[in-house]
Formats: sequence, C-alpha cells, structure tokens
Amino acid sequence: MDNTCISPDERSEKFLRKLKDRNIDVQACYQCGRCSSGCPVGDFFDINVMEAVRLAAYGQEEKLLNSHTIWLCAACETCATRCPNEIEIAGLMDVLRELALRRGIAPAEPRIPLFHQAMLGSIRSWGRAWEIGMIGNYKIRSGDLMGDMRLGLSMFMKGKLKLLPHSIKAKSEVKEIFAGKGKEYDR
Ligand code: SF4
Ligand code: SF4
Repeated sequence: MDNTCISPDERSEKFLRKLKDRNIDVQACYQCGRCSSGCPVGDFFDINVMEAVRLAAYGQEEKLLNSHTIWLCAACETCATRCPNEIEIAGLMDVLRELALRRGIAPAEPRIPLFHQAMLGSIRSWGRAWEIGMIGNYKIRSGDLMGDMRLGLSMFMKGKLKLLPHSIKAKSEVKEIFAGKGKEYDR
C-alpha cells in the first residue's frame, strides 16, 4: 500500500505491527528510566531513550522519525541490556532509521547515514571494511574533506590504515546478502 495514502491512525497501527513482528514490545515499558540513565550518548539526544519508547508505544512515529536521537544512537545495546522488560530498544532505533530512509525523511543528522552508506559500500565491494576507501567515500559525499585529518594521518603512520583493500574469501556470499538472497545469514 502507498504509505502517503493512509491516515495517521492507520500509519500508527502499521508501525506498531511492524514492531510486534520484530518482537519489539514497546507496550511492556513501565517507564523505570533504566534505559535512559545507562545510555552513553543520551546527553546528545533530543528525545531521551525512555521517551522514545513511550512515543513508539503511542504510535507517534512522526516525532521519532524527525528526531536526532534515532541517528545518534550508537546501537550499543546498553539500554536493552538494562531494561527489566527486555525491550529491544536498539532494534526500535533500527526500525525507525529504516522507516525514515524509506519514507524519504531528511535525516536530522545527515552525515550519519552517509557514513553508514560508505561503510556498507565498502563491505559490498570487499566483504569487509576498507577504511581508507570508506573514509574517502564518506568525505566526498559529506563535503567534510578536512575533518579528523590529523587523526587519520596518525593512524596511517601507525599502520592502522591500509592503502590497498583486502577482500575476504566469501565475497560472493556477501554480495548475495546485499542482493537479498542471503536470508539464511540473517539468523
Ligand atoms: S528500561 Fe525498559 S521498562 Fe524501563 S523505561 Fe526503559 S524501556 Fe521502559
Ligand atoms: S543502543 Fe542507542 S539508545 Fe540504547 S544505550 Fe546504546 S546508544 Fe543509547
């Protein structure tokens, strides 16, 4: 169904169904705050973790999709580990990022998806991250040509960044995953 033709209520229901399908039970939250108090990057969020879960439980996806929080989340899983109800909050952030991209919502932190795309491009090509290629790709896309140059140079001098890429043996299997044929690898 075309997402633009459905009512806000239908959209909320669809969103909650999507979470349920992925076993993300946001309705189980009783607002204890353990997730927010443990999040290592929570100080930079515009919607704190506990609020994000509550908004999701009310099907308020619009606010979430336009937030900085969903892009700043580092997917570290600390929140999910601390949650007494085992709510998969990092998975919720994944769903929200995915929905934002699918719906063409401009990311509140535009450089972060560009970095993700550069990383995925590297894995698609080589089966692993090739840091120099990935950083070059990110810098061209983001326009941040000079940022972190000193750090990059220092890493290069210490041999942490390889000039040439190294492929993995099972590169064809990685390509199949990107082509949507490798569902078995998702398990
Ligand atoms: S830790 Fe779990 S139950 Fe507590 S506020 Fe966070 S999501 Fe809700
Ligand atoms: S997964 Fe995201 S929201 Fe959860 S603690 Fe880590 S950074 Fe914070």
